[in-house]
Amino acid sequence: MLLQENVPLAPLTTFLIGGPARFFVEAKSVGEVQEAVTFANTKELPLFVLGGGSNLVVADSGWPGLVLKIAIPGIDRHPGDRDGKTIFDVGAGEPWDRFVSHAVAAQCAGVECLSGIPGSVGATPVQNVGAYGQEVSETIDSVEALDLKHGQVRELCNEACGFFYRSSIFNTSERGRFIILRVTYALTPGGEPHLEYADLKRHFEGRETPPNLAETREAVRHIRARKGMLIVEGDPDSRSAGSFFKNPVLSEQQHEDLKKRAAAKNLTIPSYPALDRNRKISAAWLVEHSGFSRGYGVGHVGISTKHALAIVNRGGATATEVLAMKDQIQQRVEELWGVRLEPEPVFVGI
Ligand SMILES: Cc1cc2nc3c(=O)[nH]c(=O)nc-3n(C[C@H](O)[C@H](O)[C@H](O)COP(=O)(O)OP(=O)(O)OC[C@H]3O[C@@H](n4cnc5c(N)ncnc54)[C@H](O)[C@@H]3O)c2cc1C
Repeated sequence: MLLQENVPLAPLTTFLIGGPARFFVEAKSVGEVQEAVTFANTKELPLFVLGGGSNLVVADSGWPGLVLKIAIPGIDRHPGDRDGKTIFDVGAGEPWDRFVSHAVAAQCAGVECLSGIPGSVGATPVQNVGAYGQEVSETIDSVEALDLKHGQVRELCNEACGFFYRSSIFNTSERGRFIILRVTYALTPGGEPHLEYADLKRHFEGRETPPNLAETREAVRHIRARKGMLIVEGDPDSRSAGSFFKNPVLSEQQHEDLKKRAAAKNLTIPSYPALDRNRKISAAWLVEHSGFSRGYGVGHVGISTKHALAIVNRGGATATEVLAMKDQIQQRVEELWGVRLEPEPVFVGI
């Protein structure tokens, strides 16, 4: 285990924001993870588990304890199929999109719509990563994790992970308890791509033959790039933590109230089948209709020119500035629409 001190965290995040980690370890094996945890326990240091840094706002003062970056590699395909599914064991440190590319090349369906999402495999169960009508909860078979409560490696089956929209036990009831070491996915060999979202359907409009998995993957990456939701070198709109707010899930009453507020302004709340099914509404619409249009900016921090839901670092931004913009958006949306937006990224040291 290589222990480093005072390591800047900003370059390890997609937002490029945040101060240093007092101690830092990059663990490439389960043994190194365990060694790093023992070090943190012995020194009574707060521990933060880092993946690809794509869903974080790190404090300008950094992290006072140990930052443990999980870099366990490996994509292993089980020989033969199980109940008609092809099983992949993937190290938590593998870049997520590399695994998606691998699965698509192996003609296995189930994650193709999740192409282009930055970050590591180990973080995907944490907020039940999802996009374009797919969520990892649909294909995760089990998760191997170090249980810090009992100091042992455990396997959690899909049901034990408690998956919901953008949540699991790992970011709610058992937050901070598990370090994910490996994730097992069960994919459908030779399966059809999942084409549910309007954007994707539009992309393939007019085609005579249905798209295959590889074409679907490319389409998703193309659509994401257009929205600044693909990390592209030199694109300032991708210097973000992705969507900054979750799509709110409303009660019947709240939904009625929102519709009335919209009608009073001669507006209609947009309806998308994929959102309506779970009584979710578009956070991007609320943000845009609260005076924060694409390209809005205050100094170093702004809203992406391509997507109203992404707060971007226009260069030299601080976490303090990001939080100020977050507060401003939340307040205005609540004032106008009676809905409190919940941030999606994880705040570290804040
Ligand atoms: C441009 C862009 C587009 C995005 N698009 C999407 C999208 O479409 N859908 C979506 O769901 N998300 C999206 N995101 C958010 C982000 O990519 C995902 O949440 C991703 O899974 C985070 O992975 P990470 O490895 O970067 O995690 P990090 O940002 O490093 O960490 C996120 C959280 O997971 C925890 N964590 C990380 N690794 C582990 C581990 N091994 N064990 C335990 N806990 C761990 C961390 O402690 C932290 O709480 C986007 C982000 C960006 C920048």
